[in-house]
Amino acid sequence: MNLNELIDIDRQHIWHPYTSTHNPLPVYPVERAEGCRIFLKDGRELIDGMSSWWAAVHGYNHPALNAAAEAQLSRMSHVMFGGLTHEPAVKLAQKLVEITPENLQKVFFCDSGSVAVEVAMKMAMQFWSSGRKTKTKFATIRSGYHGDTWNAMSVCDPETGMHHIFKGSLPIHYFADRPETPFGAPWNPADIEPLAAIIRQHHDELAAVILEPIVQGAGGMWFYSPEYLKTLRSLCDEYDVLLIADEIATGFGRTGKLFACEYAGITPDIMCLGKAITGGYMSFAATLATDRVADGISSGEPGVFMHGPTFMGNPLACAVANASIDLLLNSNWKTTVASIEQQLTDGLQPCRKLPGVKAVRCLGAIGVIELNEPVNMAEIQKQFVERGVWVRPFGRLIYLMPPFIISKTELTRLCNAVCEVVAAP
Ligand SMILES: *Cc1c(COP(=O)(O)O)cnc(C)c1O
Repeated sequence: MNLNELIDIDRQHIWHPYTSTHNPLPVYPVERAEGCRIFLKDGRELIDGMSSWWAAVHGYNHPALNAAAEAQLSRMSHVMFGGLTHEPAVKLAQKLVEITPENLQKVFFCDSGSVAVEVAMKMAMQFWSSGRKTKTKFATIRSGYHGDTWNAMSVCDPETGMHHIFKGSLPIHYFADRPETPFGAPWNPADIEPLAAIIRQHHDELAAVILEPIVQGAGGMWFYSPEYLKTLRSLCDEYDVLLIADEIATGFGRTGKLFACEYAGITPDIMCLGKAITGGYMSFAATLATDRVADGISSGEPGVFMHGPTFMGNPLACAVANASIDLLLNSNWKTTVASIEQQLTDGLQPCRKLPGVKAVRCLGAIGVIELNEPVNMAEIQKQFVERGVWVRPFGRLIYLMPPFIISKTELTRLCNAVCEVVAAP
């Protein structure tokens, strides 16, 4: 298919993320991708600054992940998970239990991050409904993002999550202001008061508190104090409310720890994983729970956990996930992520002084520039592509979260491109 034909049919028939079918923003056709490079169909080559939304931590077209996919493909790409099981799933479950915080012993495989959040919320509801109390509400913090399906959306930030559009049909939950104490700053205990007040007042109806640990992603790219998470864990224990950690964006090393909960040394009752779990190869996710949660669900009515999608435990995804996690664990990811953090900090430093820049912050392999005003997406996207980099801002945020395998030279080019574009919008 030639380039113009492709773009034309795309415009006529395809919805891209968060777009209108009337005069949508331009999209750039990709021919292939390899390592940290995205090769456009028009011959241009881009350095990837996004890891395809936190996912492609090892870069694209990785020989080890390709080999895992091919080996599994020649056995079976899928079998149903009802009544059957297979080694890729068993190995993956074992691995996830081993590397995630202590006490998370049970694994539920899901199709995507949003589904992992739905599953987590259903687990919390079923835990309480099985013979105990009727606890059906959730509390969370503003600036959060948990996915686009109905219940995941109901705990996203009400403004960026566009609750007003769905007013009246979304379940109403409790929202506390986001934590104010930035990561690395001295902890101010008053910071958790708004959420603590909600828990004290409504614990009888609260099934769980759900949040992204340490790094709030798509809802605002905000990094907050581990003390907040520690205090929240104690509050949840004290008032018998479950804690759900959504590590879909933060998991697998992105923040500098394998899982962001490790910054606070806590174990959530339920944890959601996704995005980088398959190294960005395909949609897949997992929801982990403690034995207490699993036992609660299993000992009540109806005694089974009520979820089981068609492609549950997909062998192809499990095989790639196993290979991706092994690759990560056998690499010097900690050192790598720390040096990416250092380079992002230095490389984005010049932006701090630029007009229109509100803040610059870096943690792990994440570098964020917060502007005072929203960007003009079509215009800024073009400028990045012209500079040979792939950076996809949203709202007032321009951010980099490159694959961990990025070279120093490539990362320098990414940082320079961001500084240039921010300096001369
Ligand atoms: C991306 C994301 C989700 C949703 O995952 P999908 O795979 O897009 O459904 C949920 N929670 C967080 C924290 C995310 O970053």
